[in-house]
Amino acid sequence: MNPVDLWNRAYLKKNAVPSFNFSGADVALTIARTVKRLGYYCLISTSERELNFQTPSLVVSIAKALQESGYPVFLNLDHGKSSEIIRRAIDLGFDCIHFDGSDLSLEENITRTKEIVEICRPRGISVEGEVGKIGGSSTLQDESGKTSELTKPEEAIRFAKETQVDILACSFGSAHGLSKEPEILDISILEEIRKHVDVPFVLHGGSGLPQTEIKKAISAGVVKINFNTELRMAWTEGIKEYLNQNSQDIVPVNILTHADLKVEKVVEEKVRMCINSE
Ligand SMILES: [Zn+2]
Repeated sequence: MNPVDLWNRAYLKKNAVPSFNFSGADVALTIARTVKRLGYYCLISTSERELNFQTPSLVVSIAKALQESGYPVFLNLDHGKSSEIIRRAIDLGFDCIHFDGSDLSLEENITRTKEIVEICRPRGISVEGEVGKIGGSSTLQDESGKTSELTKPEEAIRFAKETQVDILACSFGSAHGLSKEPEILDISILEEIRKHVDVPFVLHGGSGLPQTEIKKAISAGVVKINFNTELRMAWTEGIKEYLNQNSQDIVPVNILTHADLKVEKVVEEKVRMCINSE
């Protein structure tokens, strides 16, 4: 399946495609095995930092090996900002590119995004643009995240029309990471945009959102939902728990197996949230 077709298919079926970040092959394999077992598909994603840590060529090798072994995963660059990294990801064969130009002026964001769409479209690579600032960060430290600025529908409409992105990340109430207050999505922002332009949406900061909010988002045209923080928490808790109970064990396979079982549970829960149960 072409990654661009994913969005149409999800939209028609009132589903969303989950995107899960990974920092190592054990987590990528756990995600891939879990979605395959559930008969679904997903994006496996790396931020610039997660990409540089593993090296771009290794990340692509992991994704290609999974794809060639029949795992239904697509490789996504999450919050790509630097031109160099985006170019590298395109050349190496990423399936989806998220260009995060949310720190730029609207004009500059449109110009840069358009350039990326022009390179990616002939290659069948999906491009995700971003308008508005999605705050928070996928860590547990409150201070490290940025503040959200809700997407202005008129800006998103202009951005989507001029850039022709495949999917659009908007800031409509969610934030990266887990917030202490329950997050309420402002679906009216998406509804207003959709009155004027037919673009599917991306929900960032899916961690911690209840099923009711996820369902509302999917009904409003969200086709991709990003999850990161809860996978990180599960993996880290798994490592700590195992070592607390087996302090003499130094075998990475034993330690990682325990951590990956925790990740598997979270992946399964999130995939089920993304599948339309009607
Ligand atoms: Zn994000």
